[in-house]
Amino acid sequence: MHKISECDWMERQLLQQAKEAFVSGRARPLEFRLQQLHALQRMIMEKETEISTALKQDISRNEIKLAIEKLAQWAAPRPVEKSLFTISDEVYIQPEPLGVVLIIGAWNYPWALTLIPLVGAIAAGNAAVVKPSELSKCSSLLLHALLPCYLDKDLYPVVTGGVSETQQLLRLRFDHIFYTGGSTAGKLVMEAAARHLTPVTLELGGKSPCYIDKDCDVRTACRRVTWGKFVNCGQTCIAPDYILCEPCIQGQVVEFIRETLLEIFGPLLPIVTVSDMEDAINFINEREKPLALYIFCSDQKAIKRMIEETTSGGVTVNDVMMHYTVSSLPFGGVGQSGMGHYHGKHTFDQLSHQRACLIRSLKMERVNLARYPPQDRRRARH
Ligand code: NAD
Repeated sequence: MHKISECDWMERQLLQQAKEAFVSGRARPLEFRLQQLHALQRMIMEKETEISTALKQDISRNEIKLAIEKLAQWAAPRPVEKSLFTISDEVYIQPEPLGVVLIIGAWNYPWALTLIPLVGAIAAGNAAVVKPSELSKCSSLLLHALLPCYLDKDLYPVVTGGVSETQQLLRLRFDHIFYTGGSTAGKLVMEAAARHLTPVTLELGGKSPCYIDKDCDVRTACRRVTWGKFVNCGQTCIAPDYILCEPCIQGQVVEFIRETLLEIFGPLLPIVTVSDMEDAINFINEREKPLALYIFCSDQKAIKRMIEETTSGGVTVNDVMMHYTVSSLPFGGVGQSGMGHYHGKHTFDQLSHQRACLIRSLKMERVNLARYPPQDRRRARH
């Protein structure tokens, strides 16, 4: 087991191995990436019983399926608009692997929060060191045991351990760090990354408000909110954190939430009363930018207004958390709730370098004459 607190050299060796494996170029061919993605898919299918509980709420399988289907398209050169001066040139963006990515996961969804970034890392042609949370010990050990049986061992090692092990990893130079967890550790991750100028994706927390308009179907709204709040024992980063509503429906909200639960237990869901939608908007804007915002409302104009006048990582209207399940939508925070985004092609792009490519020919030099000195008319005629 790679217990790096016990042997510091092991982490260096792992990174070295991953780097060398990356430099060897074997992660680059699309066939190899597809083969590794298929292997990851096979691991999840074959070991489904072992990981079924954790996988129930996961979308990792869909993410892998999508990456397999779309890889060739995502990795292909992307032609871009040309200017008059480049009209006869080849102008395109080439997504390229970054190198070795460090993936640090949180405990509440130990599989999704490590495997979804890993899918993107593999698809983009990177090597990746995976560091699951020490708090989800069983999943972490299982991932550590399973992944090398299915994937290239050097390119995608799993490191187990806690805070000090993560800090040791953070001293090393990676090409990208993809972190999910609380903002206190997130700041330490960013600080450590800054020492190497390593780019980061930070998937953090943040209080996600839920506004319930007095004119909507309050019973359905409460059923959906309660599901989102209490699923996975309330441990979901985008669970609604508090309800904003007018005092006239507060009693109904409490009643309908009670109806859905039978009895109140587990995580708390505070209800804050506001005088109207404008008051709710002000309440949200006076606080840090949330990871998610939920709006229950049947007036389209009011919905658009609330979206326009607030900000958040993502927003779902008349439901909770469902924007997370749409792979075509970028998932991530804004401000204190995080930076960078992922899911589907967004993970691929996040973990790729978008290389600007311009291929010209040495012909047609006449059109360039104006840029060389002396820049007078006589010279330009020759
Ligand atoms: P955690 O304790 O599982 O820690 C996350 C990772 O950070 C772990 O791998 C851990 O080893 C490492 N870590 C912890 N302290 C560290 C330190 N001092 N230095 C270096 N590494 C350190 O997770 P947590 O902090 O309990 O995470 C819960 C938070 O994560 C909540 O705020 C939740 O909202 C957020 N979260 C966000 C998302 C998202 O997608 N945005 C998803 C899940 C959880």
